[in-house]
Amino acid sequence: MSGEEAASLPLKYLDGYSATVQEQVRELMAQNRLGEYLQRRYAEAHEVRNDKALLQAALELKNRYLRSTPPLAKVMYDGRLQVLSHALGTHTVVSRVQGNRLKATREIRIATVFRDAPAEFLKMILVHELAHSKEREHNKAFYQLCIHMAPNYFQLEFDLRLYLTHLEVQHQGPTKTLTGPNR
Ligand SMILES: [Zn+2]
Repeated sequence: MSGEEAASLPLKYLDGYSATVQEQVRELMAQNRLGEYLQRRYAEAHEVRNDKALLQAALELKNRYLRSTPPLAKVMYDGRLQVLSHALGTHTVVSRVQGNRLKATREIRIATVFRDAPAEFLKMILVHELAHSKEREHNKAFYQLCIHMAPNYFQLEFDLRLYLTHLEVQHQGPTKTLTGPNR
C-alpha cells in the first residue's frame, strides 16, 4: 500500500485525538515517514521475551513505585487479547478458593504485540496496567499514577498508537492489482 493510500484509512488507534493531530499523522503517512519517525525515537528493543521476564519487569516497576498495592500473582503475554477483547492489556482480580477462604490475586495480561515492540512501549503498557491496581477508571488520579511511573506517559501512549497504526499499514502490505477470477 502506498503512503497516500495508507493515509486515507481511518485512524482507529487515534480516535481520541483532535482532527489537527490526525491530519499531521496522515501527512507523515502520506510521505511514508511514520516508520522513520518511530525508528528515530524508539530504536531500543527489550529483552523481555517470556512471561517470567515480564513478571520481573512488572515487579521492578511495582516495587519502585507502587509498593503498597496488593501482590501480583501473574503477569503474562496473551496472544488472544488484541483479537478477542481489543485490549492491549488487562488487569484483573481473580478470586480463588484456598483452603477454606477466598483469596484474591491480581493478574496482568499484555498483548503479545509488545514482545517485539520497542522497550518504551512495553514499559508504557506495564505502567498503565499497574496503575489500574489503584485506580480502576481512566480518571485524573489514574493518569497521575502513570505519570509518576513514566513522566512522558502521554507522549508514549500517543507514539504507541502511531506504532500500532504503522504495524497495521505494514501488515496490509503493498496493494495488489487483482485481475481475473482468482481474487
Ligand atoms: Zn486501562
